[in-house]
Order: sequence, then C-alpha cells, then structure tokens
Amino acid sequence: MSYCVNCGVKLEQSLTACPLCLTPVINPKELQTVPSASPFPAAKGEIETVKKRDLAIWMSLVLGATSLSCFVLNLTVYQGSRWSYPVIGACGLLWVLLLPLMFSDIVTWKAALICDATAIIAYQYMLSLLTPTQYWFFRLALPITLWTFFLWGLCVLLYKKVSRALLATALYFFMVTGLLCVGIELLIRQYAGQTFLITWSAIVFSVCFVICVALLAILSLAGLRNTVRKRLHF
Ligand SMILES: [Zn+2]
Repeated sequence: MSYCVNCGVKLEQSLTACPLCLTPVINPKELQTVPSASPFPAAKGEIETVKKRDLAIWMSLVLGATSLSCFVLNLTVYQGSRWSYPVIGACGLLWVLLLPLMFSDIVTWKAALICDATAIIAYQYMLSLLTPTQYWFFRLALPITLWTFFLWGLCVLLYKKVSRALLATALYFFMVTGLLCVGIELLIRQYAGQTFLITWSAIVFSVCFVICVALLAILSLAGLRNTVRKRLHF
C-alpha cells in the first residue's frame, strides 16, 4: 500500500494521481508498468425513476390507511361527533385530484376537469350534510364551484385550441380572473340577500379589462408583438 507524498491519503495501486490533491503518483519500482484501469466506475449511475403505477398504488395506500384509521378511531375512541367524515372525504378528494398526475397517459384534460369538479361538489355536499342547513351549499358553494370550473375549462380550451403563446396565456388568465371575481361577488351578494351590484370585483374587472385590451393589442399588431418579444427575450 502506498500513500500520497503530499497529503498522506492511502492510494490504490492502480492510481496515477492522488484522488484528493491530484499530486502525480510515481512508484520508482513500477516505472515501466502500463497504467491499469481506474478503480472508480467510468459510467455515472442513475437512480430509476418512480413508476407512475407504483406512485398511484402508494398514494392510494396512504390515503386509504388514513381514512380507515380515522374511521376506526371515530367508531371506537372519539365517538362524540362524525369528525372522521370530513377527513375521509378530504382523502377521497385528494385522491381524485391526484388521478391526472398518476395516470396522465390515459386521463384526458376534459375527463380530469369533470372528475375534479364532481369530486369537489360531492365533498362540499357531504360537508353540508354535517351542518344544520344545506342552504349554503345550494346557494353559494355549488354555484361558485360551477362558475370556477366553467371558467377554468374555458381557459384550458383556449390554451389547447387557440394559442399556447405566453402573451395569449396571460390574456386568458386575466380575462378569466376578472369574470371569476365578478361572478363570486354577485353570488355572495345574492346569498346574503344584498342588492345585485358589483363593488370590489368591479375594480378587479376594470384592471383585468385594461390588461386584456393591452395584450389583445400586442397580439394583433405584429410589429408591436415582435418588439415586445425582442425586448423581453422570449
Ligand atoms: Zn494527496
């Protein structure tokens, strides 16, 4: 066994330089020998990526075990209320929301959107069954969820079918945000029995409207669009 003359680290016989300080290794007895292969592997090892199917099984097991343990606890130890129902519902909801991630090769965006909306509405309905009145679900939660998913679907549809450019995506985003806020305010006012007009959402809508007009102008004027692209480097 030999040692580095500079830093004293132990050296493999095959090394031609110290792996720590890179000092060349010269063995006077072996000056004529041909350098042998390096003791370290030449190819970089790669960790196998997690398979989506395995991830799906793992997620299902974790969420299933959480639901089951909460249900059993609710039945046996903490029996005061039906507290495990929201937890089980949340696990189910999370599972549905994660489905497109786990099966992105089979689930289309439309199916994912409908699944997510249905799961969220079902969860809200289940929560409403645990409260004294279901009025808030039918008059507030359900319309807001439907409106949000309608606009989200519209946004994705425009992105998929019209244009995927950055400026166009920004246009969809601001358009949908303005409409979403107006819808939410109107639905809240209608639920609370207030007059049917918009206040705070009018400001959001106006700002979004100005941004949309500016973006539309950039998108429709080719010269302006190219200038913006060059200035912002995209
Ligand atoms: Zn050394």
